[in-house]
Amino acid sequence: MTDITAARLVVMFGKIAAAIEAEKDRLCALDGVIGDADHGIAMSLGFSAARDALAALDPAADPTTVFNTAAKSFLNAVGASSGPLYATALMRAGASAKGKAALTDADFVAAFQAMAKGIQDRGKAERGEKTMIDAWLPAADAAGECISAGGGLAASLEAAVSAAKAGAEATKGMVAAKGRAERLGERSLGHMDPGAASAVVVIEAIRDAVAN
Ligand code: ADP
Ligand code: MG
Repeated sequence: MTDITAARLVVMFGKIAAAIEAEKDRLCALDGVIGDADHGIAMSLGFSAARDALAALDPAADPTTVFNTAAKSFLNAVGASSGPLYATALMRAGASAKGKAALTDADFVAAFQAMAKGIQDRGKAERGEKTMIDAWLPAADAAGECISAGGGLAASLEAAVSAAKAGAEATKGMVAAKGRAERLGERSLGHMDPGAASAVVVIEAIRDAVAN
């Protein structure tokens, strides 16, 4: 597969913004059940801001600049807790791509894994606490295992999508121990975490943009 250029990453952010926009109401509805009903709006503001900032970027920019520009605009646009979580994810992806003119399949998976690690470092959530981490960590692990086994980028991102979906589904059986939903305790049971649901949307859009 050909290397992933900065221009391809800019297209990827456009696809993420469009996918989130399409799911905005569903994500707000999920957040309405166990949070404050703004998650779709927050994610849409963040990725739209990233897409718009990238449209103004120097065409000679490198992958790190693309991720860092997206991170900064996401953070500035979003007041909800998903703001710093995704901004950290994107900064970490930028750091992992440092010095590279374009990303190989393995580089891209490393950047993807760095995003998950960034969310965990920033939010300090563990698996099973009913957050976006329950989708992002299994997705990053699945992609890493697949690429290490020689599976290629398309298969690795497909594995990431499947793992994220299973992880998001599993949040229905979890009691929230982080974020706004924590106050509900046992009453959070039976509902999908909105951040895990949006992680699936983001990861599917990444797969669609990069793996074909
Ligand atoms: P807010 O809760 O500030 O309104 P959002 O609605 O945008 O922010 O995002 C809520 C989502 O953020 C939750 O569904 C959960 O997935 C995620 N989240 C909250 N706190 C954390 C955390 N500490 N670590 C990881 N994810 C978290
Ligand atoms: Mg919210």
